Amino acid sequence: MGNAANIGMRMILAALKRMDEGGCGYCVGCGDAIGKGRLAILPATPLCAACAGRHS
Ligand SMILES: [Zn+2]
Repeated sequence: MGNAANIGMRMILAALKRMDEGGCGYCVGCGDAIGKGRLAILPATPLCAACAGRHS
């Protein structure tokens, strides 16, 4: 958990989910859905609020 391989796999899965949805609704950091409120403010963000906070 939390190792580089795991993160890479999660990013791939998140990217696939994003393609399925035809948009940017899922976090590339954790693969969870990004809240609609956050997407309304930051439509192009690839990260949910939790991951964005962690990365900044
Ligand atoms: Zn996240």
